[in-house]
Amino acid sequence: MKMRVLVTGGAGFLGSHLCDALLGEGHSVVAADNLLTGRARNVHHLRNESRFEFRQVDVTEPFDVGKVDYVFNFASPASPVDYMVHGIPTLKVGSVGTFNALEVARRHGAKFFMASTSECYGDPLEHPQKESYWGNVNPIGPRSVYDEAKRFSEAATMAYRRYFKVDVRIVRIFNTYGPRMQLNDGRVVPNFMKQALRGEGLTVYGDGSQTRSFCYVSDEIDGIMRLAHSSEQEPVNIGNPNEFTILDCAKQVLAVTGSKSRITFEPLPQDDPKQRRPDITRARTLLGWEPKIYLQAGLKLSLDYFREALAEDQH
Ligand code: NAD
Ligand code: UDP
Repeated sequence: MKMRVLVTGGAGFLGSHLCDALLGEGHSVVAADNLLTGRARNVHHLRNESRFEFRQVDVTEPFDVGKVDYVFNFASPASPVDYMVHGIPTLKVGSVGTFNALEVARRHGAKFFMASTSECYGDPLEHPQKESYWGNVNPIGPRSVYDEAKRFSEAATMAYRRYFKVDVRIVRIFNTYGPRMQLNDGRVVPNFMKQALRGEGLTVYGDGSQTRSFCYVSDEIDGIMRLAHSSEQEPVNIGNPNEFTILDCAKQVLAVTGSKSRITFEPLPQDDPKQRRPDITRARTLLGWEPKIYLQAGLKLSLDYFREALAEDQH
């Protein structure tokens, strides 16, 4: 069945790839974005696509885009640098923005898909993280503007399911990277790529022993689409269970870029999670999903994009 779909945050890194995937299945897509951390450029290639529409909308104000069958709620800064600069807008988009997006779904009898995050687990005491883990989040720390907003988003999503019978999905996305990430968004992969390609030192925070599990964007979008098509109403982790220390990640970037950059060490930001790895048993069993692209391969696939972004940045 062909649907009319709303993607909030549709001009962002993941939102724009999601628009491509939905259009690829034959649906019509409205991307609503205020361009706070995204770029119109991410959807520029869709400008002549008759089934695609971009609307510059701040979802923290009540909004409507007409009848839709599915709402994908992806609006929110996602990089720690971005969400710490835009702390209040991040809290607002995860609370008021999610309410407004849920209202659109309720009004039109549409399904609702919430882009949540591994950050709901905070600095996790359980490892790897299963969906049943309630997390270890500092509610007043610098990351709380994001973590608590996302936890609130999950609560609001489940409440709309309970009270209004909205048909909902919740994905907990673990560190995803690839083309269309902003070169200067401060996340580790764009930072290391930019530094390696410029021959600057790779800035490892702390001693680099903290871990992350990196998922290439095409795998993440595949998992998201499978969850969207499933009937699973409770949160599902979508991420790559291959865990790397940040120091390893820096070495992989050096290997892939062939850069002679040195590794430098800088202070670890407050509340930076020490470890993160998804347990993807639910995604495997419910969705038949698992990632296919390992870090080194994904970094190679991203290299041309980062080279081009860097060349543009220098102009
Ligand atoms: P991004 O910053 O590239 O995209 C977010 C988009 O939301 C941007 O285009 C931004 O302009 C838009 N936006 C922000 N506030 C808005 C508002 N008030 N109204 C309308 N649009 C607004 O980040 P991303 O990596 O693409 O993340 C997309 C979603 O996925 C976010 O909700 C994020 O929390 C979630 N997520 C991403 C990751 C990851 O590793 N990339 C991990 C966990 C969760
Ligand atoms: N990090 C780093 N150097 C950088 C950017 C990030 O060492 O230039 C570390 C950061 O401290 C964290 C990890 O890399 O431990 C992942 O950071 P990112 O901002 O990509 O996402 P997070 O998982 O913290 O939300």
